[in-house]
Amino acid sequence: MNSLPEAAFPDGRRVAALGQGTWHMGESRASAVDEVRALQIGIDHGMTLIDTAEMYADGGAETVVGEAIKGRRDTVLLVSKVLPSNASRSGTIAACEASLKRLGTERIDLYLLHWRGRYRLAETVAAFEELKAAGKIGAWGVSNFDVDDMEELLAVPDGGNVATNQVLYNLARRGMEFDLLPWSDRRGIPTMAYSPLDEGRLLRHPTLAQIAVAHGASTAQVALAFVLSRDNVIAIPKSGSPARVEENRKAADLKLTAADMAALDAAFPPPPRKRPLEMI
Ligand code: NAP
Repeated sequence: MNSLPEAAFPDGRRVAALGQGTWHMGESRASAVDEVRALQIGIDHGMTLIDTAEMYADGGAETVVGEAIKGRRDTVLLVSKVLPSNASRSGTIAACEASLKRLGTERIDLYLLHWRGRYRLAETVAAFEELKAAGKIGAWGVSNFDVDDMEELLAVPDGGNVATNQVLYNLARRGMEFDLLPWSDRRGIPTMAYSPLDEGRLLRHPTLAQIAVAHGASTAQVALAFVLSRDNVIAIPKSGSPARVEENRKAADLKLTAADMAALDAAFPPPPRKRPLEMI
């Protein structure tokens, strides 16, 4: 297996650019055993960034992650998120403490605002900075922020400490390539690409199928190889199946050719102009 490409955070910390998502994990006891195993196999193969949120299964996904990282905590870069409805100064701190309990750890490496809500950004950022000073989080970031949101964020006290922006990005959702991705690149802020398989919808696309057959690969690997071809973008596919996690990990072995990229551009044209950031 090829080694994974890496992305760098503003504080210099580096991470493999292929991590793991956890949305819909922890929704049933029956699936939790496979989900824990799937996450552990991914970690053991170098997919060490684990993305979760207090929202997923009302904390159930964080509990699954807590189980999966037992004995592996030091190798993992743990990401969780506060809901906008909890993102007041005191609400953010309380939400983080509840997440830490479910995760069974002393520290979340990267804590994100899940999307913009009614609380002022300055208030949420002040809470993030307080959590950082207390050692409960290592760094903080945001999610679903378009360029104008990012500009507003940079204008609040300590807003420049933002470590990442997690957004919807895959072949079928390329709008942010026009402005948000270059904006983030210029500032050295890595982008986390969520739903890199477009929640599974990309897997049946005929262009991906053609490219996959030519390489003896799967359509999931083609979709992931496309995201991995971008600098400083971290893909976080979710799979609760150990076999599919292994398959996703091997996306790093697939090198898309210039002809493959041209076929993908024809099927999923890059954005010619600004489009508002999409979100799921
Ligand atoms: P995704 O990763 O694009 O797709 C997940 C779906 O694809 C699941 O149904 C999964 O099923 C299936 N799958 C995974 N690998 C596969 C493979 N090799 N072959 C066939 N099917 C495969 O979608 P996502 O879960 O929405 O996004 C990934 C992560 O991003 C989430 O889990 C979450 O952590 C994060 N996210 C963040 C936000 C946000 O607002 N910040 C929004 C959405 C998602 P199985 O599990 O059965 O394999």
